[in-house]
Amino acid sequence: MLLIPYPNGEVIQNPGLFVLGNAFSIAITKDTFGFASRQLKSWLTDTCNLTVTLAEPGHSSSIQFRESSGKLPKEGYSIYVSSTGCMLEAESAVGAFYAVQTFKQLIDARNGTIPCCEIHDSPSFSWRGLLLDATRTFCPLPEMFRLLDLASSLKLNILHWHLTDDQGWRLAIDGYPNLTNSSPQFYSKEDVRKVLSYASERNITIIPEIDMPGHFIAALASYPQFSCTGGPFSIPQGEGIFSELLCLGKEEALIFAKSVINEVCDLFPAPFIHLGGDEIPLIRWKECSDCQKKMKELGLKEEKELLRWFANTMAHVAKEKEKTIIFWDDSIDEHYDPSIVCQIWNPLRNERKTVGKRSLIMSNYFYTYLNLSHSIIPFRAAYRYGALLNGKTNRRSNIMGGEFLLWTEDIHTRKERDKHLFPRLVAGAETLWTDPSRLDWKRFSKSYKMCNERLFTSIVAQTRPFFANPPRLYCKIRRYLEYRRVRKNSKKSGITKL
Ligand SMILES: [Zn+2]
Repeated sequence: MLLIPYPNGEVIQNPGLFVLGNAFSIAITKDTFGFASRQLKSWLTDTCNLTVTLAEPGHSSSIQFRESSGKLPKEGYSIYVSSTGCMLEAESAVGAFYAVQTFKQLIDARNGTIPCCEIHDSPSFSWRGLLLDATRTFCPLPEMFRLLDLASSLKLNILHWHLTDDQGWRLAIDGYPNLTNSSPQFYSKEDVRKVLSYASERNITIIPEIDMPGHFIAALASYPQFSCTGGPFSIPQGEGIFSELLCLGKEEALIFAKSVINEVCDLFPAPFIHLGGDEIPLIRWKECSDCQKKMKELGLKEEKELLRWFANTMAHVAKEKEKTIIFWDDSIDEHYDPSIVCQIWNPLRNERKTVGKRSLIMSNYFYTYLNLSHSIIPFRAAYRYGALLNGKTNRRSNIMGGEFLLWTEDIHTRKERDKHLFPRLVAGAETLWTDPSRLDWKRFSKSYKMCNERLFTSIVAQTRPFFANPPRLYCKIRRYLEYRRVRKNSKKSGITKL
């Protein structure tokens, strides 16, 4: 059967069909399945032009939701289709929601038929993410909702929301109202609550990223007193690695960082907060008398120890709010607080030696950076990432899962977003859900053709097959050139030695 992501349990197709007919009902046994059943009803009404009603619990219906008797994992579900009816079974609202995503793919919208079958399913990884950079290009609320719909239909469960960077500060902070002065478009607390509620219904946890102490010019443009030099600063255009950092030698700058973290922790219910910590040239701290004084007080010899001290201190601040911080892997070593989750991105760092035994989120540059051209990350490479991750998982149980990333320096419109995301995000989602023993490129390529028709709630602009999978030699050359660029930038930002 052609399903995305392909199920991890039994998939049995039996002879015969169930015919939905013109008017039928959906029944639930539990209130928690209400959202999933309403989603299914509106999809059947809009896509298949059928008249559907929601029946009271206990009434016999063509499609029934049933609570499983404690045998399914939280995100798991089972589907049973016979010629007389369909049963969607789950333990929780999440499982029911995922059952609906699979069930939609079984329906032939042209004639309202479903093949008789039995499907059992639950995910391979618990962290299945999409990063959206809403800083370089602001993402308005309706587009956020559309992306959440798309991600959840692929059974992704994390939206990593990159909210601050050199080029913009997109989140209102009550304690420091000038932060958003440099960004004409930003999210109010009310906006965030709307996104959180929409995401939560679709089983997506929103992880806010407040990038510090680097990638920080937008904050320093409003509050230059928190920098080493005192500014003034102007917002940079386009991409780049910039030297300006939060000054760790000034007490008010540390109070600022802590207050922002506290406010963000209060706003977002996720147990994690991402604090960036990437691409930090240490030159300003070297030249700053305040930072040097601080290092002396703390008995630190090198600036990179000051960065580690900052990470560990902020991990403690987050812990008081019962949150865990996530850092990019640039500078993490075994002396960082063991609770800090490390997000791996840089292919030049040998993560096994450096990060210790901490939990990991995987997002390798050459497989998951979907803002890169399809000639650097072809469709088939995004699909290969799952096998690669799962190979590592056998040796390392501390991998929580992975993320596919969309940075937006050069991506501004909905069409551009879609053409970078699709079809690669579909491949990525399958690799994070489906066990490696079940990944099959041929089956997957056939299945993905039906995405726009049966899986998504709105049509997406996909990159055409030839451009999504360019000739291998051309890809090899493009990847080599990109590798050289990453090497140069990694040296510049102190990730690797000069
Ligand atoms: Zn300083």
